[in-house]
Amino acid sequence: MRYKIPFNKPYIIGNEIANIKLSVAQGQISGNGIFTKKCQTYFEEKYGFNKCLLTTSCTDALEMSALLLEIKEGDEIIVPSYTFVSSALAFVREGAKIVFCDSREDHPGMDEAKIEELITPRTKAIVVVHYAGVAVDMNKIMALAIKYNLLIVEDAAQAFDSYYKGKPLGSIGHLGCFSFHETKNLQCGEGGLLSVNDDKFLSRAEIIWEKGTNRAEFFRGEINKYGWVDVGSSFLPSEINAAFLWGQLENSQKIQNQRKHIWHLYNQFLEPLREKVKLPVIPDYATNNAHMYYLVCNSAEERTRLLSHLRNNGIQAVFHYLSLHKSKFMRKNYRDVNLPYSDLYTERLVRLPFYFELSDEKIEFISRQVINFYT
Ligand SMILES: *Cc1c(COP(=O)(O)O)cnc(C)c1O
Repeated sequence: MRYKIPFNKPYIIGNEIANIKLSVAQGQISGNGIFTKKCQTYFEEKYGFNKCLLTTSCTDALEMSALLLEIKEGDEIIVPSYTFVSSALAFVREGAKIVFCDSREDHPGMDEAKIEELITPRTKAIVVVHYAGVAVDMNKIMALAIKYNLLIVEDAAQAFDSYYKGKPLGSIGHLGCFSFHETKNLQCGEGGLLSVNDDKFLSRAEIIWEKGTNRAEFFRGEINKYGWVDVGSSFLPSEINAAFLWGQLENSQKIQNQRKHIWHLYNQFLEPLREKVKLPVIPDYATNNAHMYYLVCNSAEERTRLLSHLRNNGIQAVFHYLSLHKSKFMRKNYRDVNLPYSDLYTERLVRLPFYFELSDEKIEFISRQVINFYT
């Protein structure tokens, strides 16, 4: 029997479609309606987040963060190089200079020990990325924030339902950004969430979210006319997306249990390879939210051969980020920057298919193909 296994696949788990119908029946499919509120409240109540705003993407939550930071010409923001474009792009648009940080030797996440040497009097903020939903060592980051008076933005795009020493990721820095893109644990096509953890950003965050107007205050009856008071954009998603997302949030436990099952099954099957390739490690201070399963090959050439071996067997495995400091857009200003681990993961990391409906049988088949390649 021949399989055709995609890397990712969207799925419906519960009331997503019924919720969309309900939003139409109730007469509101524009943003900030009942499903938006349900989603926001879920994060605030279940995870104890201070205040959440649903956004059209994690990119938009990062852009809101960049506006909230009030970046001035010459301000520097420290960002890992091995991450998605948006972690840096949002701040570049506001005129910040990006200072890239390397990955850890044992993990693609940013190396906390290499941040302090990058801090200058112009450093304004650090964007931490919890790669694969595995926490960056946040006590070290928050200590730097206090010592140098910096703001911390958590790019928690991959970190839904994951913790650092018992604290939910996305709730520890001043601002936290989540994604509900179809490749993430919970999805609604395109979607995101900004967690406003520091009260000083609250009222401006609401204004920026609503195109620079004080409409949110108006809806709460706190003022009798709303108008243009600040910069902003249309950062709020339609109720159609929120209704879909609510269907997933209602089943988040089931989704997470299944993803953890998939992760552990891969890990069990691939365990015999631990001497031959690098498999994921989870530090004791972090939890595993089963966002992805990856392995790290011994060379770029080996990875190319592994990917084509898998492709020939009907399996779509993929690599991940390309070091941002070497991207076409950024490289002219970073010629002297040397980030060996970011480059290593750029060249050698492989992600295996990972989606809710991936069967045990297929996981075993994929794992067997990986093992065959190495033996
Ligand atoms: C997916 C992802 C993003 C972007 O999320 P969108 O919702 O697609 O904008 C940003 N950062 C990281 C680390 C991501 O994995």
